[in-house]
Amino acid sequence: MAHPKSRLSKQRRDKRRTHYKAEVPTLATCSNCGATVEYHTICPECGFYRGKQVMEKQKVA
Ligand SMILES: [Zn+2]
Repeated sequence: MAHPKSRLSKQRRDKRRTHYKAEVPTLATCSNCGATVEYHTICPECGFYRGKQVMEKQKVA
């Protein structure tokens, strides 16, 4: 099996990880209830998506 020849120093490991970053989700406002919703996601408050009721009211998160 492939195996690293030598251990990476903490500095090299951490330098590689400078590119890892949490992404901030794009947020929108629900047209029905005004709640803040993630884009391309059914509103968790009222179950609306693109101006239509697509799901019964459901609290997920
Ligand atoms: Zn809503």
